[in-house]
Amino acid sequence: MGDKVLLVTGGSRGIGAATALLAATQGYRVCISYREARAAADAVVAQIKQAGGQATALPCDVANEADVVALFEGVERAFGRLDALVNNAGVLELQARVEQMTAARLQRIFATNVTGSFICAREAIRRMSTRHGGQGGAIVNLSSVAARLGAPGEYVDYAASKAAIDTFTLGLAREVAAEGIRVNAVRPGVIYTEIHATGGEPGRVERVKDSVPMQRGGQPEEVAQSILWLLSPQASYVTGALLDVTGGR
Ligand code: NDP
Repeated sequence: MGDKVLLVTGGSRGIGAATALLAATQGYRVCISYREARAAADAVVAQIKQAGGQATALPCDVANEADVVALFEGVERAFGRLDALVNNAGVLELQARVEQMTAARLQRIFATNVTGSFICAREAIRRMSTRHGGQGGAIVNLSSVAARLGAPGEYVDYAASKAAIDTFTLGLAREVAAEGIRVNAVRPGVIYTEIHATGGEPGRVERVKDSVPMQRGGQPEEVAQSILWLLSPQASYVTGALLDVTGGR
């Protein structure tokens, strides 16, 4: 892996933190971004450094374009290059039916999940694309099985934002395929992280796990393994793929 540099947005906990930790063991220098959880992000960085890796944490609300531009400039200052991006930062809101949703809620969901991923990808492409003098790279977007299932009664808005991520992945992959950049998505099922608490149901994985063919929820590390494979040279001919990591759901 050598001196490759990976940026993981929303790396302070959950799938993003697991991805950062696994990437460091594979030799990546890792930058994680966080929105609010500075102490948690610093703890992830400390864990990587204790194991002999290189990492840094930078603040960034991916819904804020100026923040994203500053984040990528910060990665350049810290590590001098960028080889891979994981568009992991994502949010949902309290479980609700569509007739209860406000425009403000929809704007918050789409600003982080969709616009944030687009703008982060834009900054990555400007640095990685051979069209812009870069050396190529790889992007993995975090979609969700919700893009297929729709999350009725819970968060159809979030599910629709993830469907947008699927289409974004398909289009961008083809757009930059001849410029040395591969773009793929993972679609996790129910994974043990704190995101379910932000939807108002901390125990959601336990409730729905029996509907998973494997009869269990997934661990963030299992999603991280799929992400790292898609970023790796082992996936050199894979682009525009939507990889379900769902236990069969
Ligand atoms: P968590 O809620 O555990 O973590 C989310 C991370 O994203 C945190 O580090 C948070 O940072 C960061 N974040 C949130 N909003 C922003 C923002 N506007 N700007 C920058 N960072 C932000 O989520 P998960 O680990 O569960 O989810 C990671 C991704 O995987 C998401 O895209 C999610 O939609 C997707 N996913 C998760 C599934 C699951 O079951 N867990 C299933 C399918 C998809 P901070 O704490 O600093 O705010």
